[in-house]
Amino acid sequence: MRSRLRTHFLRPLRRTLGRVTDRPAAQQPDWPDAAVVAEVVSELRTLPPLVFAGECDALKERLGAVARGEAFLLQGGDCAETFAASTADGIRNTIKTLLQMAVVLTYGARVPVVKVGRIAGQFAKPRSSGMETRDGVSLPSYRGDAVNGFDFTPESRIPDPRRLLRVYNTSAATLNLVRAFTQGGLADLRQVHAWNQGFVRGNGAHQRYEAMARDIDRALAFMHACGVDPEAFRTVDFYSSHEALLLDYERALTRTDSRTGLPYDTSAHLVWVGERTRDLDGAHIEFAAGISNPVAVKLGPTTTPDEALALIERLNPLREPGRLTFVSRMGSTKVRDALPALVDKVTASGALVGWVCDPMHGNTFEAPDGRKTRRFDDVIDEVLGFFEVHRALGTHPGGLHMELTGDDVTECLGGSGGIGESDLPIRYQTACDPRLNHQQSLELAFLVAEMLASHSDQ
Ligand code: PEP
Ligand code: MN
Repeated sequence: MRSRLRTHFLRPLRRTLGRVTDRPAAQQPDWPDAAVVAEVVSELRTLPPLVFAGECDALKERLGAVARGEAFLLQGGDCAETFAASTADGIRNTIKTLLQMAVVLTYGARVPVVKVGRIAGQFAKPRSSGMETRDGVSLPSYRGDAVNGFDFTPESRIPDPRRLLRVYNTSAATLNLVRAFTQGGLADLRQVHAWNQGFVRGNGAHQRYEAMARDIDRALAFMHACGVDPEAFRTVDFYSSHEALLLDYERALTRTDSRTGLPYDTSAHLVWVGERTRDLDGAHIEFAAGISNPVAVKLGPTTTPDEALALIERLNPLREPGRLTFVSRMGSTKVRDALPALVDKVTASGALVGWVCDPMHGNTFEAPDGRKTRRFDDVIDEVLGFFEVHRALGTHPGGLHMELTGDDVTECLGGSGGIGESDLPIRYQTACDPRLNHQQSLELAFLVAEMLASHSDQ
């Protein structure tokens, strides 16, 4: 069977990978020296994989459960990781926040929560404009630490392909720490719950979440009293993900799995194709079609049902469960109008995909001081709209895709901390889009858990 599978599917897949370079690739840097790119790529090709194909398969299986309505995905982290902020404290705080959110969501959803970080590889950004102008000076836009520097100087903004090697090394170090944290004690369920109790008690505005925290406490005490102490209480499976944007990097890390002979992008467990690069005839979709990882595609409000169906045909022709996740990022004012037709047509086609809500990217606007921001209430409203659409259609709202940090930043407006426009400069630290801070992230988790619980109680 295995060898028949190989003859039928492997050759076309290999051809597919070979064709990636022939397709138009949007959002690629203008590397100044092609010879240096070639050197870097050949070095990357010799380096060990960052993740193993078997782990990608395990995530695919879990995402299959998400698509069937038997699990919920929590995917989150920075908009853009930076080399400077990839510190032990920063990584720990992000993981801690995601684990805290996951406990609350597990309780609300009553199904397993699949945990995926936007971490250990999220270093490249698509930009709406190739140039940035400040005070009459125009320079190439910052495209993430993978490409050029954040500082607004001509030297810093020159794309440097050697940065791709630093992306690899920083991703490897980050992943090592993530694995240590999630397997080595930080993920203990009782500890994570104790942090959540601290969040609920530490602020009068969080009192409304006390009942849920108490319920979780009772459930844990009950299980403890019964002698239940599974390994799953002490460690968690945590997966890495990023946008597959820089095809030189992603192709260099794509390797043939020795078990199956199939190509996997070993830069992360899951990679996604962004809203700006999901052209059906473009190189990014061609690349995603050729790898065997689970993949996701962002869908903005202009997506047509036919495009969604064509993406399924291209990316999951074998209809493998968990292979394809759609990340809806419509905006709070559009989700209720734009999403139903997509979900409806995809469901009617008989294809099974995971539906996940990114309530961040459709809700960005400029504050008066020019900083990009988002309102906490818009983020919550988009999640609510996403849930409403799925409930009306009888489909599963499968998860959340969030931009967040475990640090106490002031980048998004609102939440019980009451961050206002004049507070934004205090700790505005993102290298790209505004993230929910630690408190806002937990508050969102409690609110979403309430939405999920109200459904599962019915
Ligand atoms: C992102 O996830 O940071 C991003 C650029 O998203 P989108 O492709 O949905 O705009
Ligand atoms: Mn972003």
